[in-house]
Amino acid sequence: MQIILAAPRGFCAGVNMAIESLELALQRFGPPVYVYHEIVHNKWVVGDFGSRGVVFVDDLSQIPPGSNVLYSAHGVSPEIRQASEERGLNAIDATCPLVTKVHREAIRYAREGYVIVLIGHEGHDEVVGTLGEAPDAICLVAEEEDVNRLDLAEDQKIAYLTQTTLSVDDASRIIARLRERFPHIEGPARQDICYATQNRQEAARLLAEQADVVLVVGSRNSSNSQRLAEIARTGGVPAHLIDGPDDISREWFSGEETVLITAGASAPENIVQRCIAYLQDAYAADVRTHSVREEKVHFILPRELRT
Ligand code: SF4
Repeated sequence: MQIILAAPRGFCAGVNMAIESLELALQRFGPPVYVYHEIVHNKWVVGDFGSRGVVFVDDLSQIPPGSNVLYSAHGVSPEIRQASEERGLNAIDATCPLVTKVHREAIRYAREGYVIVLIGHEGHDEVVGTLGEAPDAICLVAEEEDVNRLDLAEDQKIAYLTQTTLSVDDASRIIARLRERFPHIEGPARQDICYATQNRQEAARLLAEQADVVLVVGSRNSSNSQRLAEIARTGGVPAHLIDGPDDISREWFSGEETVLITAGASAPENIVQRCIAYLQDAYAADVRTHSVREEKVHFILPRELRT
């Protein structure tokens, strides 16, 4: 068996910053530290912090007044910020700056009287946060068919924004359809799908061509991990989204395959290494890393933790 280890893979700058922020908050304030929603969508990261006194909540009413609460990399709506203030919580904002950029764009377009078409997945934490910035000005579309159903006046100013972790190809198709229906639609000067999502997808697309099977390390609720598996399948290669080595099935292999391993932006590298160790042990697999792009992005810690 040959293993192609994709690079870049795994943690992005936003996830690194969010995890470092939570580590620092735990050290500085001691447990419990509360996090609104999962810090990142990965069961290992959430489980590890949970065992060390971090409490993940889906409702601010679960947090005692005066406590420390951290907002995850996916960001929150203004409603949550206000509710947190009213409850007297000490908020630490670990929202990824690339998500904040989308929030700012939504606020600007709404202020200038645009209807905003947000391309994203309903119910995803990031989308809920962005929608909350201008709930009366945003309509959500997830697929090309949703564009056909939009009922907007001819002279209405329209702009589109996207969730940061979409499939680049799917988003391009939806944007093309939007431009067809609304030729005057405007969009952000720079792509909203983030650098980490684009780079991991590019690596998966290029390297899957050389593979018989693709393993994507990441949790089921991780949007960007799901997209990586979809990209491989679109290229005709069977792909499995796995949380770790326990999810690997021997039925997927004869032992002669070339296996591409990649990981979503919220999947820890030690789990990737455990999956490799499993395949080396079971099939004497050889590993070579194939890098399609270098990443040097780093985000500074939230203001509340910088002193
Ligand atoms: S995937 Fe992109 S937008 Fe999301 S946390 Fe990472 S860098 Fe930020």
